Amino acid sequence: MITKQKGTYDIYGEEAKKRLYVNDIIKGICEKYNYTYIETPVFEATELFHRGVGETSDVVKKETYDFVDRGERSITLRPEGTAGVVRWFIENKLYGNMTEPVKVYYNEKMYRYERPQSGRNREFTQFGVELIGSDDVMADVDVISLAYQTYTLLGLDTKIKINTLGDNESRLKYKDALIKYLEPHMDELCEDCKERISKNPLRVLDCKIDGEKDIIKGAPITLDYLNEDSLNRYNKLKDYLDLLEIPYEEDPRLVRGLDYYNHTVFEIYTDIEGVNFALGGGGRYNGLIKELDGPEMPAVGFAMGYDRTMIAIDAAGVNIPYKKDIDVYVMYVSDSEKETASYIVQNLRLNGFTTETDYLNKGLKGEFKSADRFNAKFLIILNDKDLESNEVNVKDNVTKEEEKVNINDLIDYLDMHD
Ligand code: AMP
Repeated sequence: MITKQKGTYDIYGEEAKKRLYVNDIIKGICEKYNYTYIETPVFEATELFHRGVGETSDVVKKETYDFVDRGERSITLRPEGTAGVVRWFIENKLYGNMTEPVKVYYNEKMYRYERPQSGRNREFTQFGVELIGSDDVMADVDVISLAYQTYTLLGLDTKIKINTLGDNESRLKYKDALIKYLEPHMDELCEDCKERISKNPLRVLDCKIDGEKDIIKGAPITLDYLNEDSLNRYNKLKDYLDLLEIPYEEDPRLVRGLDYYNHTVFEIYTDIEGVNFALGGGGRYNGLIKELDGPEMPAVGFAMGYDRTMIAIDAAGVNIPYKKDIDVYVMYVSDSEKETASYIVQNLRLNGFTTETDYLNKGLKGEFKSADRFNAKFLIILNDKDLESNEVNVKDNVTKEEEKVNINDLIDYLDMHD
């Protein structure tokens, strides 16, 4: 028997219905915030992700699905959404005549070769947005607000952890201080972090192995190294969040490890018991577009994972209003009524009723059972005798009342009794 791959899963039944509901919420909120939908390819040139996500990141060092295709190209499965969007932005020269920022959202599968555990899979779905072309703190707030409102609409109480990395000057000063602090502790760090100290010390702070160690907890914090502009910008961000009543907590240890982040970084958490991981996160990445051979161009974005969001929704007992029952089950006694049954089924569906029928020639007894299984509100029972006068039997499965109704009046009848 062929089984699914480790860290992958099938989505079906109630889980699938819940995810479709989450999709609807996302689509609705992105429309309100005026982000348009984008799909980028599942696979891209390896170089895009290695450069875009950063050679020293855990994702690139250990987690990307890299392979050589039949044309000898080096290919990588998409581990995150930002690099693909930025490649699209640069490739189409959208920076040429920008009159508005580019605002897009994606909702797609990602691939990382991770050790599977709760909320961590090898194939997973992320929803994310990117706002390219504005350096204004209002853009950062737009993205944080969209993220926060998405969870609120899903019925989840969340809080945003925020921090700032500052501009390049501040970040460099901080980086120096961090290296000075970490170097004497070199022996206490994992092999990867030893290498990171010289290449990108900020990554040491969110290393999965070293992140919780006391030496990391005692490390310098970015706030102490901000220049005046960066500090003002950070204070402005907080003013906006206060104004928009978005709850946040300052977390001076939060540094998203990706090389291209600057200024705002944020992650989204919930207090729900058993959900002790970030649901999503994002921040400003003014350095990435240049890094990928585009022009100097400010940008900010956010991504959330579906797996963790679904876990949080279940843990919080959120009641997702997806349709569980059908409206009508159409039954027939014998073969001779099937064509009319088929016609009625189509007509009901076209008029907005969720309708089911019998494809297995079960006979009336089996059909009654099916109707109950689908929790049908109405049963429509066809028999040749009634059809001679163009009538069918309609039974309200809740009140158990039964009535003969002319086929031409069916829709009106159901509308009235629904
Ligand atoms: P990242 O791109 O690593 O910043 O992750 C953003 C969000 O994607 C996280 O907060 C998670 O919700 C989700 N995520 C990241 N990696 C995984 C994974 N392996 N499995 C499931 N969700 C993930």
